[in-house]
Amino acid sequence: MRHTKIIATVGPACDSDAMLDALIAAGTDIFRLNFSHGTHESHGATFARVRAAGERARRTVAILQDLGGPKIRTGVLKDGRALHVDPGDTLRIATGDFVGGSGRLSTTFAGLAQNARPGDRLLLADGIIELRVDASDGTEIQTTVVEGGEIGEHKGINAPGVALPGSAITSKDIEDLQFGLSLGVDMIGLSFVQSAADLGQARQLMADAHGSNALLVAKLERPQALEHLDEILAASDAVMVARGDLGLEMPLERVPRAQKDITRAARRRGIPVIVATQVLESMTSEARPTRAEVNDAANAVEDGVDAIMLAGETAVGAHAARAVHTLDAIIRDAEASPSDDVTRRSSDALHQDHAQAVCEAAVTLANRGDAQAIVAVTRGGGTARRLSALRPRAPIIAATDRDDTARRLAIYWGVVPLATDIGENLDAAGMIVGQQLVARGLVGAGAVVVLVNISADLTRLDANYLKIQRL
Ligand code: PGA
Ligand code: MN
Repeated sequence: MRHTKIIATVGPACDSDAMLDALIAAGTDIFRLNFSHGTHESHGATFARVRAAGERARRTVAILQDLGGPKIRTGVLKDGRALHVDPGDTLRIATGDFVGGSGRLSTTFAGLAQNARPGDRLLLADGIIELRVDASDGTEIQTTVVEGGEIGEHKGINAPGVALPGSAITSKDIEDLQFGLSLGVDMIGLSFVQSAADLGQARQLMADAHGSNALLVAKLERPQALEHLDEILAASDAVMVARGDLGLEMPLERVPRAQKDITRAARRRGIPVIVATQVLESMTSEARPTRAEVNDAANAVEDGVDAIMLAGETAVGAHAARAVHTLDAIIRDAEASPSDDVTRRSSDALHQDHAQAVCEAAVTLANRGDAQAIVAVTRGGGTARRLSALRPRAPIIAATDRDDTARRLAIYWGVVPLATDIGENLDAAGMIVGQQLVARGLVGAGAVVVLVNISADLTRLDANYLKIQRL
């Protein structure tokens, strides 16, 4: 069984029943719906298709709603024609919703002109175009082109080092979030998070809307987020190293270190970490990845990340299913010889309670007893989450009677969610589940497994148990 999880972004290249089936068969654990694109109607239809595909495959497949956040973009252009600029040209960027043309672009993001200062750099269209700010009067910026090229409509503008005002949640995000919660998404990605306050605001919106239990994923893509990493980790259920925007917002050569720092800090707290963007980028058009891409993905596995995400590779790529299949193979090989980094336990575990001790004992017992699986009987997922943070060698089979719990567990390293009837009595559930595992072929007959459950309630006679058993 593979420990590191695979997230695939849905887009035109894979948004059909047959392709979703193929992506699940290739190993996709979670599908990302990217709300930077598409409509509520299109995302609603995709959501239903993904759920149906998961049921067809009889696999637990989760859905991550990725909110667009305050991404600054260029406005529409005359006749939709891209603008060509050369080094030394002057280019103005004005606030408003109007048609841009030669020498003048529009953006609806008012905070850019308000905060840009002479000497600031602006990067357009994924950093292909570089502009230097000469002046800003608060609504219009004067710039000189440093690196030229073509600028299309709705292209991203990154303003590294410019302290942009406001929260990471736009009014569009609020509408999208409410829509996502009404669908029942399992995880929500917040883009351009700058501090814990952004996460607090999202939690409040979630509580107001439906009291959702969806996981909150902080996308780390601004240097400000790294300065507030501890408080963001404390307020998030998971984090994403969003290397696309991060590589524009900070010097590109600093991204590898940022990825390692984030991974280490998140692992210490037992919070899942996702590595994203350009993982197998060349497979968007080619059938095989580059050596460097394979190395990058394998190294992320070695560092013990929980999940790796594909974006354009599956959303618009020519080889979507093959990209997932390739990533699956890379992960499996990297996991075959685990490094010290993967197996190292979080030394300063957040919890020092009896439940943590039971989980640590379960991992020790599984290792010494050479167990083929650790079976966590869990309602809310807590037992499986804590076990995952301890990075045991054996897969953690998380048996739960709640489908939503099972889906949320899809992101955790080493956890195999199993939505199944566990009955009323937790103690009896362990044996029932053990027998099901054999019936479903998840472990062989006669396999040794560790059964574990934790509960905060010490008076419950059927909870807080740990045993090792041959099935
Ligand atoms: P995005 O986020 O694909 O939504 O921009 C990921 C990244 O920036 O790397
Ligand atoms: Mn991004």
